[in-house]
Amino acid sequence: MDRLQAPLSAYESAWVNDDVRMFRKTVAQFIEKEFVPHQARWREARGPDAEAWVRAGRAGILLADLPEEYGGGGGTFAHEAVVLEELARAGVHFGSAIQSTVAHYILRYGAEAQKRNWLPRLARGESVAAIAMSEPGAGSDLQAIKTSAVRDGEHYVINGSKTFITNGARADLVCLAAKTNPKVIGMRGISLIMLETKNLPGYRVGRALEKIGMHGQDTVELFFDEVRVPVANLIGEAEGRGFAQMMEQLPYERLQIAVGAVAMAEQAVAITTSYVKERKAFGKPLLDLQNTRFKLAECKTGAQIGRVFLDHCIERFIAGRLDEPSTAMAKYWLTETQCRIVDECLQLHGGYGYMTEYPIARMWADARVQRIYAGSNEIMKELIAWSL
Ligand SMILES: Cc1cc2nc3c(=O)[nH]c(=O)nc-3n(C[C@H](O)[C@H](O)[C@H](O)COP(=O)(O)OP(=O)(O)OC[C@H]3O[C@@H](n4cnc5c(N)ncnc54)[C@H](O)[C@@H]3O)c2cc1C
Repeated sequence: MDRLQAPLSAYESAWVNDDVRMFRKTVAQFIEKEFVPHQARWREARGPDAEAWVRAGRAGILLADLPEEYGGGGGTFAHEAVVLEELARAGVHFGSAIQSTVAHYILRYGAEAQKRNWLPRLARGESVAAIAMSEPGAGSDLQAIKTSAVRDGEHYVINGSKTFITNGARADLVCLAAKTNPKVIGMRGISLIMLETKNLPGYRVGRALEKIGMHGQDTVELFFDEVRVPVANLIGEAEGRGFAQMMEQLPYERLQIAVGAVAMAEQAVAITTSYVKERKAFGKPLLDLQNTRFKLAECKTGAQIGRVFLDHCIERFIAGRLDEPSTAMAKYWLTETQCRIVDECLQLHGGYGYMTEYPIARMWADARVQRIYAGSNEIMKELIAWSL
């Protein structure tokens, strides 16, 4: 019994050094003080306060793994992982992962002037970023997107729509996937273009989409009607490279998701362990029932195996050696494991597990989308299968 009660943190990831440990302390304190007290309100408003972004920027939580010369934290993916883990543990939805993802597109493919213009603002939280790939008619099959960006002198004229866009309500910098050459069928006609959306004629944010979970984060539709954007906002040296850029950068996003998956699974085990020690049935704590112990033993084992594989992936990613099939395995398997564990933990809460005031209920609803976005788990299996 004592072993079951030992904290999950008894194991420490090899990528955690003194610097990362100190950073974790700062991040955890910041989230506890600045984000946690506002969660009910953010969920009600379907998104965080605008000031939350600036506060996060000031605390050094945004773009933790970007070079200091562009305003980033100068850390590695370890620092990014710490932010994601602490947000997941606190049950806070805040789109800093998307902010980082967009920043990495700019860092990797952007011109020097673009980096100097956008990255420091993103790091300070003065700008909020979104990435707009998915459309009503094209999610998994990104080659089928229809939003067009037709060149007219020194501008692109953009028409079309996007859906399911995280941070979209607040975003003033949107990384848009559009067809710059509608005549080319498939991947070669797609480019990434940055839109500065403030007072941009023809740009419209649609309704907040009603999700089953993740209510503290905004997800919206975006509409483009003859939107004019300078050609200088193209990401990369030439048109038609957007699909390749997305394929190269999606592993970063998928690893972010895997980090959140393991952190939530660990947290679910931790809070459920506390709950079953307190809650009594038939005159004794639920933990005294063999089924409860066995289920939690299974969950803890799943979370621990997930943690070890994730750590392996993080270390390889930091070393620049994480291959695509392994990233796909991490995204697919860790999110499936997360959902299974959270579901088991909800069951152990009984009826209270179905009440949204209990964190486990919110985790259950929040976790489900992890198997769908950033490339569904079926697409992940395709990527893994290509390596067979
Ligand atoms: C909360 C939320 C936030 C999101 N945030 C963003 C965002 O910020 N930016 C953005 O661009 N998008 C975002 N998305 C969109 C997300 O990436 C897509 O929903 C996802 O890629 C799946 O696309 P789809 O919804 O069109 O499903 P579809 O592509 O229609 O797929 C439907 C089903 O068919 C399966 N399927 C499709 N193709 C295959 C295949 N080849 N083999 C086997 N099965 C297949 C899928 O796995 C799925 O089960 C978000 C989605 C949600 C729900």
